[in-house]
Amino acid sequence: MLDSNDRERLDALYDRMRAANEVSLGYPAAKDFDYADLDRFFRFPVNNIGDPFADGTYRVETREFEREVVQFFADLFRAPRDDWWGYVTNGGTEGNLYGLYLARELLPNGMVYYSEQTHYSVAKNLHFLGMRHITIRSLPSGEIDYEDLRETLKIHRDVPPIIFANVGTTMTEARDDVRRIVAMMDDLAIRQRYVHSDAALSGGYAGFLHPRPSYDFEDGADSVAVSGHKFLGAPVPCGVVVARKQNVARIARAIDYIGNLDTTISGSRNGITPLMLWYRLEELGIEGIRARLAHSLELAEYLVARLQSASIDAWRNPNAITVVFPRASEALRAKWQLATAGPISHVIVLPNVTREQIDAFADDMIAEVQERKQLAQH
Ligand SMILES: *Cc1c(COP(=O)(O)O)cnc(C)c1O
Repeated sequence: MLDSNDRERLDALYDRMRAANEVSLGYPAAKDFDYADLDRFFRFPVNNIGDPFADGTYRVETREFEREVVQFFADLFRAPRDDWWGYVTNGGTEGNLYGLYLARELLPNGMVYYSEQTHYSVAKNLHFLGMRHITIRSLPSGEIDYEDLRETLKIHRDVPPIIFANVGTTMTEARDDVRRIVAMMDDLAIRQRYVHSDAALSGGYAGFLHPRPSYDFEDGADSVAVSGHKFLGAPVPCGVVVARKQNVARIARAIDYIGNLDTTISGSRNGITPLMLWYRLEELGIEGIRARLAHSLELAEYLVARLQSASIDAWRNPNAITVVFPRASEALRAKWQLATAGPISHVIVLPNVTREQIDAFADDMIAEVQERKQLAQH
């Protein structure tokens, strides 16, 4: 039994989290979800251990639902009809690790290329995997510098490239053009290669954008990773990775102990997050996802316009829901939990963000800038 002190601490934690949740604009976590229907599943020791497409001995699991979630993303990422496989991960980081792991098994001598705007977790993943890598310059937008990539690929033509493409960089939501990179490798007669797309945030909606960003299997990717808690929203981190099935078959090992295949990174796997993602996709449907995307794009444009009208140098990449502006003050960063890197900060206009919140934030930012101007005049 918890004593009254424990209960008070939980209440205080709850109040603190609720208040913080109201004023968080800087990190990519949608908050407009309600999974109360799934509460009863917390009474089971759910575990999707092993491969989601194979039956195991342990039956307190949700693999059937997990398969439907993976199928949804395989379709969205235009994976080849009979040659895809995937699973619900603990987040974008694990999906990226998986893509790189497959790449290493296929091309053990490969060289990984990624831009300097790549998520901080990728260098660590490469360290785990012991893979050689080269950092490519980024353009001011955050997109990979194609000229630098081309020159570097040319120098290392004898080593199979493993392209780690950013489909929505962490700071500016810039999207590397996978088709363009693949064409570049064709042009250089580089046939042995692997392309992984890190679509942690944008993967939830890139397939619905016009024009459609070039990032998926039809564009030339061999695997795509997306986070579930970012655009769709979940109370715990989660994600999905989709890869070509024939590539996965090369690493699968049958494990007697679980009566299943060991194709994933973790042994025990979350069985609740697949259920959440399934619930979310069913509840929203394609139309619901499109509507949330339209809302985000419109409000992002509105925020750019408001800040620009006060002479703040705000901008966003084409069809991005991330609004970038010069490094915000300590006070604003703390209040709105803004992510900052060097000279820039950003707001991510997720579907739960309201016009009122955007106005309140813009008012704060504009007031500060005007105050600073007045101080400078005196
Ligand atoms: C968030 C993010 C990741 C990491 O995803 P997690 O779900 O937090 O593990 C990787 N890459 C990019 C571009 C991201 O934005």
